[in-house]
Amino acid sequence: MSKIDSKIPEGSLEEKWSKYRSSVPLVNPSNKRSIEIIVVGSGLAGASAASTLAELGYKVKCFCFQDSPRRAHSIAAQGGINAAKNYQNDGDSTFRLFYDTVKGGDYRSREANVYRLAEVSSNIIDQCVAQGVPLAREYGGLLSNRSFGGTQVQRTFYAAGQTGQQLLLGAYSSLERQIGLGNVTMYSRHEMLEVVTIEGKARGIIARDLISGKLERHFGHAVLICSGGYGNVFYLSTNAMGSNATAAWKAHKQGAFFGNPCFTQIHPTCIPVSGDHQSKLTLMSESLRNDGRIWVPKQKDDKRKAVDIPDEERDYYLERRYPAFGNLVPRDVASRAAKERCDAGYGVGNSKMAVYLDFAAAIERYGKQQILKLGIDNASAGEIRKHGIDVVKEKYGNLFDMYKQITGENPYEMPMRIYPAVHYTMGGLWVDYNLMTTVPGLYALGEANFSDHGANRLGASALMQGLADGYFVIPYTIGAYLSNEIRVKAISTDHEAFVAAENKVKETIEKLFAIKGTHSVDHFHKKLGKIMWDKCGMARNEKGLTEAIGEIRALREEFWKDVRVTGTANEFNPELEKAGRVADFIELGELMCMDALQRKESCGGHFREESQTEDGEAKRDDGKFSFVAAWEYKGTGSFELHKEALNFDVVHPSQRSYK
Ligand SMILES: Cc1cc2nc3c(=O)[nH]c(=O)nc-3n(C[C@H](O)[C@H](O)[C@H](O)COP(=O)(O)OP(=O)(O)OC[C@H]3O[C@@H](n4cnc5c(N)ncnc54)[C@H](O)[C@@H]3O)c2cc1C
Repeated sequence: MSKIDSKIPEGSLEEKWSKYRSSVPLVNPSNKRSIEIIVVGSGLAGASAASTLAELGYKVKCFCFQDSPRRAHSIAAQGGINAAKNYQNDGDSTFRLFYDTVKGGDYRSREANVYRLAEVSSNIIDQCVAQGVPLAREYGGLLSNRSFGGTQVQRTFYAAGQTGQQLLLGAYSSLERQIGLGNVTMYSRHEMLEVVTIEGKARGIIARDLISGKLERHFGHAVLICSGGYGNVFYLSTNAMGSNATAAWKAHKQGAFFGNPCFTQIHPTCIPVSGDHQSKLTLMSESLRNDGRIWVPKQKDDKRKAVDIPDEERDYYLERRYPAFGNLVPRDVASRAAKERCDAGYGVGNSKMAVYLDFAAAIERYGKQQILKLGIDNASAGEIRKHGIDVVKEKYGNLFDMYKQITGENPYEMPMRIYPAVHYTMGGLWVDYNLMTTVPGLYALGEANFSDHGANRLGASALMQGLADGYFVIPYTIGAYLSNEIRVKAISTDHEAFVAAENKVKETIEKLFAIKGTHSVDHFHKKLGKIMWDKCGMARNEKGLTEAIGEIRALREEFWKDVRVTGTANEFNPELEKAGRVADFIELGELMCMDALQRKESCGGHFREESQTEDGEAKRDDGKFSFVAAWEYKGTGSFELHKEALNFDVVHPSQRSYK
């Protein structure tokens, strides 16, 4: 019998969630008070889950490694959050959001989950507005929308270029309220380093107090992993420097299957790599593709300044190749198209690994509109430009400032230079419809789960999914499990399972210090990142992936023989934190390559060079690969593949086309 059961409710797609909600077992209020829930993570997924569960009456403990829940990586999200409100009256609906997401994910996600996501998307916006999140508004007061890739409607709600920050402040306020009421105990600067299981169920965690170095044991009737994505396995990514896979990886090693680990999103709109000493890449939000036009010179190795190249000598290659969606094709398509142009020798900048993102046309268009609005006659070109710049500044000002600070170039005068970079991971802990992993009582939410995005996430859908999971899904689905746990008294943390788990963590820390090798943790992380980017990045093939697996195995051995971890265990020691995280990244990197190797098709962000159409588009093989790959941990470097078949009753898979 299969070890995985997605537990998708019976019934028609439109009725599944509403019927489920009306029939899911509940926990009565007095029982909720004696049930403890551990939430690892305080980003949008964790903070929304912790505050909502506490509001319902559960006793919640919430953990994060930053000094404040407010500093979770979610704060970095710039562009926006999707919802099927149809405020624009441009044809949007729950069904269209569902359809766009299944298609955008290249038919590798579950219909039932995606439909639920589309259904609750509207509730999220209402919830956030009620919290006071300052989403952008039109002049008349209605919430404003803009476009994101992979759609032909405007359904993205935003707060300038700081949507994640504002949404997180909303979720954080709810969390703080519950902390103030004593319903949530917050453990900042704590890192979860092990999941404790008793008789096959998740019953707690071991966490390290990052200030004192002390190991702590915490009991919970259920544990929620909301620890974000693992893009930093590539070393260079747009993720926050601290984002890591440790919580998810420890859960995996305790029995939680890992879903679709190779599905990584490469975002087309990032500031290009500038040298070997860089430790971070910066995203220029996808929202910029609303107004920016992407191009390269038609002539190879054109040395002229961008502004000196006349329009007819520019190749607006996305508009040329994909006239229906133009610059707003999904990220996987836009990234590959940029790589194709640069590999063919048309790249710009010193490295020649960049393309232009140009706002000149938008500045002129907006300028002309403003002149008309203001009733100015005979405006000069300079006046038009000035008014156009004002409009662009209002929409994207903070992003333009950021670009200028990093590159020293003024994007109002000169097109930005951009190139794809690792940004998001669609893979993650495998979960069923209830968001439960294969370990009973252990859940995964937000970017940490393998999520609803299939092989490619559409822009502005991660915030939607994280908040859907936390505010609207887990509060119901967790009842299905906890209603059977009401007779379980809090288990003492003196239980042998807690002692054993703590000893395991202690041994790993001692082992790391005992190596006293010659290379820093970063040295190994960089090496891993290079292998991953070169062989499991934007394009993958059998030879490269096979080599990568061998190289990563060798790197793992070298790490455990030669890493140097400075300082001691009983103090604030970021080097020790990094060492543990990089050790986990190395193991995960190996699994990612194994997953990419077995998936001998191209789909979404996973581009196998052996499987492409004549015009270079990703070519799926639905007959053989229409499944979720769920990997079971079997010991270091050993994993067993389980397959969850994907059935499409409503949206029928076809070759994705944005032409
Ligand atoms: C630059 C950038 C811009 C983006 N813009 C958008 C956008 O406009 N729209 C959109 O939809 N998506 C966007 N995304 C994606 C989106 O921001 C993320 O997918 C989302 O915020 C993830 O939220 P999360 O709650 O799952 O995880 P995170 O916000 O990453 O939070 C993880 C939490 O887990 C905690 N944690 C992790 N490990 C441990 C551990 N071992 N012990 C204790 N605590 C732990 C952390 O402290 C943190 O609190 C963007 C991503 C990037 C990188």
